[in-house]
Amino acid sequence: MALKISNTLTRSKEKFIPIDEKNIRMYVCGPTVYDYPHVGNARPLIVFDLLFRLLSKIYPNSKVIYVRNITDIDDKIIEASNKSKISIQDLTDKVTKDFHDDCNYLGCLNPTIEPKATEHLNEMINLIKKLIQNDFAYESNGHVYFQVTKFKKYGNLSNKKIEELISGSRVEVSDNKKEPGDFVLWKPSKENEPSWDSPFGKGRPGWHLECSAMSEKYLGNHFDIHGGGLDLIFPHHENEIAQSVCANNNEKFSNYWLHNGYVTVEKQKMSKSLGNFISINELKKNYNGQVVRLAMLSTHYTQPFDWNEKILDVSQKSLDKWYEFYSDDKEEISEENLKFLLDDLNTPLMISNIHELYKKAKNGDSLSAKQLSSSCKILGLFNQTHDEWKNFKNIGKITAEEIEKLISERDKARSKKDYKTSDEIRDLLVSKGVLIKDKDGITTWEYK
Ligand code: ZN
Repeated sequence: MALKISNTLTRSKEKFIPIDEKNIRMYVCGPTVYDYPHVGNARPLIVFDLLFRLLSKIYPNSKVIYVRNITDIDDKIIEASNKSKISIQDLTDKVTKDFHDDCNYLGCLNPTIEPKATEHLNEMINLIKKLIQNDFAYESNGHVYFQVTKFKKYGNLSNKKIEELISGSRVEVSDNKKEPGDFVLWKPSKENEPSWDSPFGKGRPGWHLECSAMSEKYLGNHFDIHGGGLDLIFPHHENEIAQSVCANNNEKFSNYWLHNGYVTVEKQKMSKSLGNFISINELKKNYNGQVVRLAMLSTHYTQPFDWNEKILDVSQKSLDKWYEFYSDDKEEISEENLKFLLDDLNTPLMISNIHELYKKAKNGDSLSAKQLSSSCKILGLFNQTHDEWKNFKNIGKITAEEIEKLISERDKARSKKDYKTSDEIRDLLVSKGVLIKDKDGITTWEYK
């Protein structure tokens, strides 16, 4: 059974052949931790989590290494920290925690390694040194730039010529650059901005450099799969390739490049100014994470995904039905059902197949019932028991205000040593998917 995937680099669907079958390596660009994750961020998390699960399934005796970084130093972070008056450390810690909560909510497994940019400055500085040595980069006024015209394959991933790329995007104009398309590897920091010592002066790394350095450290300078959203192809991924290939005098960096499509909301681009910006945290109040996951998987990953309430309702209803056949058994998924995913993660077809299995299971076919359960599990669904699913559904019927009211009633009961009432209130909250914690006399709560 061979896996086929859509390779942006060759613009074709290709059979996946690992470099080393015992050691399968994938890198996915992770979040820049400056703001709450939104539904657009959820898509690559779910898509590449599914690919990670699938690779682990079809290469059971191999090591499958999935690296997803955290960008914890960036202009956007500095800006957000200045604006909110929260220190960079506190801001990035808080957003990283929110991000992990959201990954959990969406049923995503932890990546094998999750490196932070600020912990890899030595690797980044060494990479710049190699690029200067190999004559692909130059220093200028405290900055270091990569000179794109020196790399003949620049533009291969986005299938564009250098001139087209530069005219089609907003390139930073600077007197320090030799040519307008050159991009920054290192730049000086302003006063009060985080900075590190380097042979090129005190400063900080460019964003593109971070991924090249971290992927090389954990996966080597030539690996199997690199993933991310479509919006990262240019300039981010194009620049990652330029840096990694030129620093190591290699032919290739990643063999396969996978990109998930855009997310729109009710057919519009999602943006804060349009007021259609949906954070994952908001969804937790109304939907089980499995509903969001199934909704996103109902569209093929290479296609644009339009976020709307209808698709969430449909997914909710499907899961309600499928959960009738939830099973704890570790039933292996049949080759016949796996074939949809092996064909470039064709989740829409996989989902129709699960509907078919449901019909057969309803007619008493126990094998179909088992296959339904195992098919859901490989999609990362059915990560809660039947009871947990049923209880979670009540979420959304209880507001934060109501929760606070119940907690204060519980506090009163507890102060009167009326533990029966206080336990009843706690059970009621749990049944609505609200987790409460008592610590040092203070009760906090969160949606489970
Ligand atoms: Zn990246």
